[in-house]
Amino acid sequence: MTRAIVVGSGPNGLAAALTLAVAGVDVTVLEAAATPGGGTRSVEATVPGVLHDECSGFHPLAVDNAFSRSVDLKAAGLRWAWSEVQYAHPLEGGRGSSVVRSLEATAEGLGHDAGRYRRVFGPLDRRFDKIVTEFLQPMLHLPRHPFALAGFGSLSAMPATLLARNFRTEEAQALWAGVAAHAFRPLGSSFSSAIGVALGTAAHRYGWPVAVGGSRAITDAMITLLAQNGGRVITGERVTSLDAVRKEHEAELVLLDTSPRAAVGIIGDRLPQRVRRAYERYRHGTGAFQVAFAVQGGIPWTYEPTRRAGTVHLGGTLAEIGAAERETWRGRMPERPFVLLGQQSLADPGRAQGDVHPIDAYAHVPAGFQGDATQAIISQIERYAPGFRDRIVGTAVRSSTQISKQNANYVGGDICTGANTPRQLVFRPRAALNPYATGVPGVYLCSAATPPGAGAHGMCGYLAARSALEGL
Ligand SMILES: Cc1cc2nc3c(=O)[nH]c(=O)nc-3n(C[C@H](O)[C@H](O)[C@H](O)COP(=O)(O)OP(=O)(O)OC[C@H]3O[C@@H](n4cnc5c(N)ncnc54)[C@H](O)[C@@H]3O)c2cc1C
Repeated sequence: MTRAIVVGSGPNGLAAALTLAVAGVDVTVLEAAATPGGGTRSVEATVPGVLHDECSGFHPLAVDNAFSRSVDLKAAGLRWAWSEVQYAHPLEGGRGSSVVRSLEATAEGLGHDAGRYRRVFGPLDRRFDKIVTEFLQPMLHLPRHPFALAGFGSLSAMPATLLARNFRTEEAQALWAGVAAHAFRPLGSSFSSAIGVALGTAAHRYGWPVAVGGSRAITDAMITLLAQNGGRVITGERVTSLDAVRKEHEAELVLLDTSPRAAVGIIGDRLPQRVRRAYERYRHGTGAFQVAFAVQGGIPWTYEPTRRAGTVHLGGTLAEIGAAERETWRGRMPERPFVLLGQQSLADPGRAQGDVHPIDAYAHVPAGFQGDATQAIISQIERYAPGFRDRIVGTAVRSSTQISKQNANYVGGDICTGANTPRQLVFRPRAALNPYATGVPGVYLCSAATPPGAGAHGMCGYLAARSALEGL
């Protein structure tokens, strides 16, 4: 029986392990942290009984993809739940804009921009199943749906500021800026629309659901299925040497759910020089600074749909968000950073304790940010929800430094495991026909540093495992 070691138990490590185990491989996952899950963990971080997602909270691209169709996570207990509004973008003066599952209802809510919203997202929405098949894999492939991919690609390649010119109202432009900012890139740079176009369309096709019981339910379901297929996870094991781990476990296959630079250290001299150089050149993006709040009675948003929204984008107008993202990219902390905020208990009430609700927020900050962004985050919330501060009954801060210490993949607080530059959107982690191969027989990279990139969708791990199985 073939033996495999997977280093790291993030969603990609577990997806890789599960894919191998289902194919009959004997799999052991070694995880450095005390609990498994990487970016899919949930904890009572603030007050007892109030459950927070430590990292990922919303899972639009995990609901229906090649990996999720290959295993029955539902049978292992995974359930999705949706809030009424998928994401909202409040502006000053009680104004704002929001996105619901129905594209038509979303468009109507945008008033003068209704037709323009339909024209941008309508064609993508109609072909999204085909588009997802194409972009949730390495970019270098023979497309099965070239026309769908071309439509998606032409919008993705645009700077987000250029795509924003499709809209006339401040509300619609800000709505677009908020979803585009998920790319952690200056909005004026090429390909800065790619992530926003995908997530914005996914909001209509799949919604932005949470996992019932916290994102850790995704981890639990994968570990349950892994055990049913003979695999196991060992926590508290940091892997530092490929040779040592191969020898100890007699493993033919090793899959690394790590950053490319960490892979250089683990693989050591066996790594071909050209691959080493590419992994060392691999670029990390800007960081995140996180604050979890326990809030009595929820947040008193002035723009009403925000009270029903799972995800909230805070940062003001297109121009303000553009300026903040530009500053962050240049290594300077803006006074008013872009903030993403999750209200998971709206979809999954079991995470609240009585009327005390978990709120998970993070600000975009420069790479390696050493400062404290707590007050900047509170001010951005207070700007659109006066009185918020008085409702806080608990906080838990994870600075960018802490985020990177707790998970080695998030270098400098980069929660995407790699910058979404045009080059790295296409060639991640290096230009190669098989981006998962490290050049060392039997050793593969399977983290979010490989295609299709960041997110708790498991597709990087699934595709890396398939590549490993083909190589046997
Ligand atoms: C604050 C935050 C919010 C986010 N929000 C979302 C969201 O809403 N939706 C979404 O889809 N994504 C979100 N993400 C991103 C998502 O969590 C990641 O893209 C995803 O977890 C990447 O999965 P992965 O398996 O590649 O790596 P990770 O989940 O980072 O897991 C890597 C694992 O490997 C372990 N490891 C690393 N090196 C070693 C070693 N040498 N030995 C042993 N173990 C090792 C680490 O401890 C870790 O457990 C968020 C991330 C953060 C931090």
